[in-house]
Amino acid sequence: MQTTLLHLPSTPRHRAMAASAAALLVLAAVLVWPHARNAGPVIPAFLPVFATWVTVTEGLTALLLWTQYAVSGRLLFAALSGAYAFTSVIAAIQLLVFPGIFSPTGLLGAGPQTAIWIWVFWHGGFPALVTASLISRRVPSDVARRARGRAIAVSAVAVAVGLCALATVGQAHLPPFVAQSGSYSQLSSSPAGLIVEAICLAALGLHVSTTRVRSLMDLWLGVALLAALIDATLTLSATARYSVGWYAARGASMVSSTAVLGMLIYETTGLYRSLSDTHRRLVETSARDGLTGVFNRAYFDERFAREFSSACASGERLCVLLIDVDHFKPYNDTFGHLAGDECLKRVASALTSALRRQSDFVARYGGEEFVVVLPACGPAAGLRVAQSLRNAVEKLANRSASPSGAPVTVSIGLACTLPDQPESATALLGLADAALYRAKARGRNRVVDAPEVAARATALKNTVGRERFSH
Ligand code: GH3
Ligand code: MG
Ligand code: MG
Repeated sequence: MQTTLLHLPSTPRHRAMAASAAALLVLAAVLVWPHARNAGPVIPAFLPVFATWVTVTEGLTALLLWTQYAVSGRLLFAALSGAYAFTSVIAAIQLLVFPGIFSPTGLLGAGPQTAIWIWVFWHGGFPALVTASLISRRVPSDVARRARGRAIAVSAVAVAVGLCALATVGQAHLPPFVAQSGSYSQLSSSPAGLIVEAICLAALGLHVSTTRVRSLMDLWLGVALLAALIDATLTLSATARYSVGWYAARGASMVSSTAVLGMLIYETTGLYRSLSDTHRRLVETSARDGLTGVFNRAYFDERFAREFSSACASGERLCVLLIDVDHFKPYNDTFGHLAGDECLKRVASALTSALRRQSDFVARYGGEEFVVVLPACGPAAGLRVAQSLRNAVEKLANRSASPSGAPVTVSIGLACTLPDQPESATALLGLADAALYRAKARGRNRVVDAPEVAARATALKNTVGRERFSH
């Protein structure tokens, strides 16, 4: 089974945040309670803002939960996605039918009882659907059977539309709850009001006792259900629209609709950060040679081609150095392959440390051969760098297999792009290889540059005269 974001166990940080949110909700409800029936100002813009908020947040939550279902195949997420989609649809329809928003009596053929009945269906329906989703917790995950989840989510939306149709077309058959004045005190004492309250209470109790709010999702779903309970309780105790309790209940409703979404956004952002970190580390690791830690051949092939193209485009010079450890076979034969490995690590590290510019890089070309690329570097500077690399390895004073006890050394072949004579990256590497071959032939532990470089660098010979190099 694949792990989803919502299966993560709740962290102490999340538990503290959820506990604070729950405590604030309860405290606010207790403070508002004695004033719940007091009339508040009629703010016509409030309901559209509130209903839009709920529609959007519940819709987004449904979408993100659906993604969790698609990833994990857990039916629970499809069921919860359905519950949130149900609320999103019902909140949008309630906005359309609410009297005084789009028309004095509400759209879609709404009557005076439509909005209040939609409230009943909404506030009974959401906790009921969350509770029903408990059944799906035991269903094993199955990514292949997406149709099951789709059927559940579509059914939830269909139920929302069906109930709204009942509240509009069939309102004449439903008991009236709301009076002309906007008072709905009849609902507060009716069986419908009690049933809504009981469903909210039972949903919260069952959720907490069944899940023990162990996972992240269950924790924040618990906060959403608590907010829904407070919403229903305050609405029923307020008994009239635009009263203090009615406004506070809508505030709780907004918290209820945002709790799981907030957690999803928070966690997704964190997940994205750690994913990009992991990706960066993975790319970095896959570019490295396992033994020496310098870049590997695959990375070199790709980066060298890139550097070469940009050098051609900009007209800047670029040097490539092929470096081969001298007499390494006898070294292995004398000291063993493990010592040989250690020696290669030290050589690689000496080469890396001798490079000064951020843009220069060293890679293991293969076996006991390394390659160094020096972007924006002309032949004179290239020769200087090559000499410093050769020196750095010699200075390691790694005893070679030679009976004289001479240190391990390297031979270096250097090639540099010509400003007015474009060649291919492979051809340039071929030139460096040919120069390396000559360095070996001429006695090793030396730098040899490609003939084209030699012709242009003759004048520079004196500047590096004291160092060992030949053409
Ligand atoms: P030359 O001066 O002409 O380069 O002589 P050489 O002995 O270095 O050249 P040769 O190509 O004959 O031998 C290269 C040796 O490098 C043979 C191989 O065992 C050794 N080698 C290649 N890769 C590794 C490695 O990863 N670890 C160890 N220990 N040895 C390696
Ligand atoms: Mg070799
Ligand atoms: Mg060698």
